[in-house]
Amino acid sequence: MSASASDVTRAMLGERLLGAYAALLGHFGSEPHWWPIITDAPQFEIVVGTVLVQQTRWETVEAAIARLQAAGLLRPAALAAAKTEALAAMIRPCAFHMQKAPGLQAIARYLCTQYDEDVAALLSRPRAELRAELLALPRIGRETADTIMLYGGTHPLFIVDAYARRLLARLGILTGVDATRAPYDTIQAAVEAALSGPALDARLVQAAFAPPILADAAPRCQFYRNFHALIVEECIHHCLATRMRHDQPGARRTFVDARKCAAHCRACTGCPLRGMCATYHADSRAAL
Ligand code: SF4
Repeated sequence: MSASASDVTRAMLGERLLGAYAALLGHFGSEPHWWPIITDAPQFEIVVGTVLVQQTRWETVEAAIARLQAAGLLRPAALAAAKTEALAAMIRPCAFHMQKAPGLQAIARYLCTQYDEDVAALLSRPRAELRAELLALPRIGRETADTIMLYGGTHPLFIVDAYARRLLARLGILTGVDATRAPYDTIQAAVEAALSGPALDARLVQAAFAPPILADAAPRCQFYRNFHALIVEECIHHCLATRMRHDQPGARRTFVDARKCAAHCRACTGCPLRGMCATYHADSRAAL
């Protein structure tokens, strides 16, 4: 039986995604402590961290988590019972701390009333049910829910954050999909479909063979954890929101205007994905 056009497209996307993963892993390596867990309640810490990190630098979140830990508040019951104003002050450098404090307490109360503080019991629920449950809680959108499920739980899934959208758009590998604007679930489904199926399982196991980020997860989950971490690193160090030109030191130009950049930006110059990047090749042609 011959493969359909969509099968071929999906297979090609899978190859390119695995190629990008391998190149990024070769460049950055794997960092087992990429998500630095500092308490003995890792799953609740991850729930709290994913809420605090919205619009906030990770260093600020880490400091806030350390303060919560020191105050004995990294337990659902303790967090739920805390004074909201005191909690808000404790997480204050984090953006929207006045909204995040009551939001976190509502999540903590839910864990107390529905799961007797057992975060693992919540996170072990089937993917679709868990996602719907998380999305019904305050301060939790798709990206936050998926981050909790992937790192706090062991659900293998692709997180469609701003970094992933930017990178996929610039690589130009999602045929027929504008990765900057397409609905979250459309991009997630396309990537996961391309990386599904028994034919890819062996390669996924191989690709995920690196010091795991957090323990206790199957190779496919470890792969997605690593992939997300690598995409974040790539977009922090290379594929920046704005790109610096070589020919005008100090001048920044936005990505959409970068097509006519005669010399590639510094970020592209060191990027391990140049060989497969549509934007890089378009820049090269424009420079001729
Ligand atoms: S070559 Fe440049 S545009 Fe392409 S992925 Fe790398 S940094 Fe981004």
